[in-house]
Amino acid sequence: KLPLFLLAGALAGIVTYLALRRWRSLNGRLEQALRNQEFLPYYQPLIDSRSGRCVGAEVLMRWQPPGGALIPPDRFIPQLEENGQIAAATTLLMRQVAADLAGLSLPPDFHLSINISPCQLTDPALAADCRLLQDAVAANQGQIVLELTERVALESTGVTQETLQRLRDQGVKIAIDDFGTGHSSLAYLTELKVDYLKIDRRFVSTIRDDVPSAVLDAIIALGRQLNLVTVAEGVENERQLAYLRTRRVSLLQGYLYARPMDYPAFGRYLADHTEQ
Ligand code: C2E
Ligand code: CA
Ligand code: CA
Ligand code: CA
Repeated sequence: KLPLFLLAGALAGIVTYLALRRWRSLNGRLEQALRNQEFLPYYQPLIDSRSGRCVGAEVLMRWQPPGGALIPPDRFIPQLEENGQIAAATTLLMRQVAADLAGLSLPPDFHLSINISPCQLTDPALAADCRLLQDAVAANQGQIVLELTERVALESTGVTQETLQRLRDQGVKIAIDDFGTGHSSLAYLTELKVDYLKIDRRFVSTIRDDVPSAVLDAIIALGRQLNLVTVAEGVENERQLAYLRTRRVSLLQGYLYARPMDYPAFGRYLADHTEQ
């Protein structure tokens, strides 16, 4: 009779082997995707809570394998971060966005948000890629906003601080994304001198009635106290909209207004929703 521990060991080995094989095969596909430029930007409108007008957009990455279904970022961004390819993918994405912007008629003071993984803050190419986007929106006095997620603890090393300072000097704005879901929120806000605070969807989803939501209200108050532009994501219904407007959250984003969409759809959206 085979000892149980041997059996368990063999099973664990097989599981590890399979996981490793899956990781390697996804890595291979991602490398190919980079070479073939299969990553593309989707755009989700940002709405001014007072005027109800579209005043910007967040760029959200999608992966379109040839002949396959569109793949959402949760399924490949973590792996790109792990294997060190996220910077290269973002560079491609930003170039595509710059090209897209040239074909759109943007409203004035357009905010264009791009998601940046913490590990990219040591990438020397980031500043040049931002410059490309800044030039693309310059004619409309637009702004480029880098969204840094709070999910991962951002090491506030010398290099990171230096990169952020250089980007700020260059005119790039910084947003802290998924605020309230990570670990070092408050240290971040003072150390990194951010300009925007993005309230995570999970707080917005707690709005069910006009019952005050203590944590959400505290986050909004904190943003105001620190003079930050507050942005609420995941706005899905009128009740949430009313709540956030009453508390003067500056910008709103969510399915109530629009889902993330590809470039042609976003062009049509802008034509329908902004006064030229
Ligand atoms: P995020 O930055 O928090 O982006 C907001 C996510 O919420 C998006 O998911 C968006 O589609 C979704 N969303 C927006 N409004 C609503 C709503 O009303 N209801 C619901 N249920 N969802 C809403 P998406 O596009 O799947 O992106 C997921 C995450 O992937 C992003 O979360 C971001 O962390 C990451 N990501 C996306 N693109 C990039 C990128 O280019 N670079 C990096 N580093 N990360 C990215
Ligand atoms: Ca974001
Ligand atoms: Ca977010
Ligand atoms: Ca989020």
